[in-house]
Amino acid sequence: MSHPHKHLETQLVHAGEPSPRIEGAVEMPIFQSATYETAEEGVYDDVRYLRNNNTPSQQALHAKFAILEGAEDALVSASGMAAISGAFLGLLSAGDHVLAQRGLYGGTHELLAQEFPRLGLSVDFLDADDPGSWAALLRPATKLVYVEAMTNPLLEVADLRAITAFARAHGLVSVIDNTFASPVNFRPIPAGFDLCVHSATKYLNGHADIVAGVTSGSAANITRIRHKANVLGGALDPHAAFLLKRGLKTLALRVRHQNASALIIAGFLEAHPAVARVNYPGLASHPRHARARGLFAGFGGVLSFQLRGTVQDARDFTRRLRIPAVAPSLGGVQSLITRPAGTSHAGIPPEVRERLGISETLLRLSVGIEATEDLLEDLGQALG
Ligand SMILES: *Cc1c(COP(=O)(O)O)cnc(C)c1O
Repeated sequence: MSHPHKHLETQLVHAGEPSPRIEGAVEMPIFQSATYETAEEGVYDDVRYLRNNNTPSQQALHAKFAILEGAEDALVSASGMAAISGAFLGLLSAGDHVLAQRGLYGGTHELLAQEFPRLGLSVDFLDADDPGSWAALLRPATKLVYVEAMTNPLLEVADLRAITAFARAHGLVSVIDNTFASPVNFRPIPAGFDLCVHSATKYLNGHADIVAGVTSGSAANITRIRHKANVLGGALDPHAAFLLKRGLKTLALRVRHQNASALIIAGFLEAHPAVARVNYPGLASHPRHARARGLFAGFGGVLSFQLRGTVQDARDFTRRLRIPAVAPSLGGVQSLITRPAGTSHAGIPPEVRERLGISETLLRLSVGIEATEDLLEDLGQALG
C-alpha cells in the first residue's frame, strides 16, 4: 500500500507526528524537559539534551521538515540566522571561499562580509542574473555557492537553475535561503540544491510570535551541521517547537491565500497613479516574470512599491494605513509594511541604495491573510 501522505497539505498536518499517538492525544504535547534518561554508552551527540537537538519536539519537526522539503534529513534551530550561520560553520573551514548572491538578507550579508574574514573565510558576491560572470570568481578554495529564492526588498529572482548546474559542474555545495518562497511555492532540494535554509520565523510559523530556523539536505550534510550546532548552542526550545509545528499545519492554506491576495494587490498598486513602480514576480511587468513562473508554484505574499512624492509622503501614507502594522519581518497572518531605506537598508549610503533600486519612497508590504477587499480599500484610502 502506498503512503497515505502524498500531498503537501496532508504532510503538513500528519508527517513526523508521533505514532502511536502519545496517550491518544491527537496533538503532540509539549515536552518541557531539558534532559532525558540516557544509557551511558555512545558519543556526546547521543546524550538526550535539548541543546543536542534530539528531544521529542525537535525530532518530530526534523521528520516533518525532511518530508516537506523532499530531503533526507532536517535540523531546526533557534532562529533563521542560527540555521544560516550553522550551515556555513558546519560545512566550511578556515581558508575556504564562498560565492554569494548580491543583495542578500542583511544579517546574512553582515555575517559573510564582516564576520567571515575574522574566521579565515572569504567571500565574493556574484551577479546572480549573469551566469557567464561566475566562473571568473572561482578559486581553488571555493566550496559553496549561496543564494536566496527571492531578494528583499526588490523581489529579484536569480537564475536558480543555472546556480545548481554551476555548483554541480564545479563541485560546490549549493545552498538556498528559501524563506520568501516557502515549500508551498518552491522545493529547492528536488530542484537540485544541496541544502535549504529558512527563517521559520516567517511563513513556516506564520504568526509572528516566535523566531526559529530550519535546514534540510542530505543526511551526511545535516549530520555535520548538527554536530557543530550542538556545540554552537542555538537549539529551538520546546514551546517554540510546539508553536512552529502548530503554525506549519496551516502553511498551505495561508500561503495560497497570500499568493492570490498579493497578486491582486500588486495589480491594484501598479494601476494606481500615486505609485511609480511595483516589484512583484507575479506581475507580467517583472523583469524575471517568465523565470519565476517556471520556478515557482506561486509568487508569495511580499511585494514592494515605489510611491511618487517625497519621503514625507511615504511616511504619511504608512501612517494613514489602518490594517498593516508598520513593523519589520514578514510572512505572518497579519499584514506588515516597512520602508527599507529607513529600516533594513538604513546602513547603506543613500547613493548606493538609489543605485540598487531601493529609493527613499520604496515600501515593502507583507500581505497577511486578511480579506483582500479590506486591504485594497485600506491601501486605496491611504493613497488618497
Ligand atoms: C528574516 C530572515 C532571515 C533571518 O531569520 P531570523 O529568524 O530573523 O533569524 C534570513 N533570511 C531571510 C530571507 C529572512 O527574511
